[in-house]
Amino acid sequence: MGGLTVAVPHEAAVGERRVALVPDGVRELRAAGLTVLVESGAGAAAFFADDAYAAAGAQIVTAAEAYGRADVVVSVGRPADRLRGGQTVLGLLAATGDPPYLRRLADLGVTAVSFEGLPRRLSRAQPMDALTSQANVSGYKAVLVAANAYGGYFPMLVTAAGTVRPARVLVLGAGVAGLQAMATARRLGAVVSAHDIRPESRDEVTSVGATFLDLTAPPARGRAAGAGEGGPVPDGAGEGGYARALTSGEERAERAALAAHLARHDVVIATALVPGRRPPLLVDEESVKAMAPGSVIVDTACGPLGGNVEVARPDTTLLTDEGVTVIGAGNLAATVPTAASLAYSRNVSALLRHLVRDGALAIDPTDEIQAGVVLTHGGRTVHEGAPS
Ligand code: NAD
Repeated sequence: MGGLTVAVPHEAAVGERRVALVPDGVRELRAAGLTVLVESGAGAAAFFADDAYAAAGAQIVTAAEAYGRADVVVSVGRPADRLRGGQTVLGLLAATGDPPYLRRLADLGVTAVSFEGLPRRLSRAQPMDALTSQANVSGYKAVLVAANAYGGYFPMLVTAAGTVRPARVLVLGAGVAGLQAMATARRLGAVVSAHDIRPESRDEVTSVGATFLDLTAPPARGRAAGAGEGGPVPDGAGEGGYARALTSGEERAERAALAAHLARHDVVIATALVPGRRPPLLVDEESVKAMAPGSVIVDTACGPLGGNVEVARPDTTLLTDEGVTVIGAGNLAATVPTAASLAYSRNVSALLRHLVRDGALAIDPTDEIQAGVVLTHGGRTVHEGAPS
């Protein structure tokens, strides 16, 4: 009993400020009988000091000890290349679309557990839902980033010098990040519209006080480009509550229908994703050119596979010749490290406690949660990380 050792190393990715476990998480795991090692300084960038971990019952160790002694390495992104056979790694491993990575872990004899495949609609899995907890942070921060880059106010202001109209914000993709972006932009006083291809998103959008953009209706004004160019935007409901990948023709129709609306907005926050696929391309270069100078676009879908906005580049802010700021920001949760780590740590602790029986890891592919998250075990890839 109490033999299972969990280690929290420094995150390996450059710029990653989150930490997988915060001191409260250490307390929970200690109460469950686990030993917890924290690499010295692992929480510093998220403002969790070694002293706080030690007070919570963790042992503060070097990286070599953390990787050397761990039965389970917990991390946010992929850990360093220091895992050995018999160990388990738990994190957001982004393994979908990267079978060679999983093969390497399987060949090493590492059990890989990744949050991406969690059955999120299962109510007992919700405390473990790291995709949701981090998407919430990302949607919130996207609005702050946009507001910071925007030259105007978000709220309507009535002052002695006159009345300022509120900013018009358009959110593309009404999932967890998109809904949080809408709510945050509303709190700042903007007028918010949103679009998604899942039919049920219409009610979700209106429930946070935003207007659902019906792409089958012509825009009130703005350029006519795109109108009638590809027919109505299709129903994009896919499996498990996610959107399906549209065909290239359908995606073109959606882009064309969006084009005229984009020009009527001051700020666009693009959050549309399809699990395991490249993000849909929703805003082409021509549409960006048609936006008013001073407009801002934040693309939270922007990553190595592409993004929602043609001209966006990962982790880059660019100003077009027409005066539109385009920000590629695929990893915003890492820039709100305290809140993101607090939430992620709860997800880690909940999933880990689910995996432990009588002080040892009990890998059981017949368990619905484990069937989604366990990717390699016993020297084999058991699942490639696509969402269940
Ligand atoms: P996601 O991150 O995979 O995608 C973000 C949004 O982009 C989604 O709403 C998706 O419909 C949208 N999208 C994809 N292609 C698009 C396109 N071409 N045009 C416009 N929008 C497009 O999604 P998510 O935030 O992880 O959420 C996916 C679903 O899971 C939602 O229905 C969400 O409410 C649901 N969910 C349920 C639970 C739960 O039941 N506890 C938890 C989390 C999420």
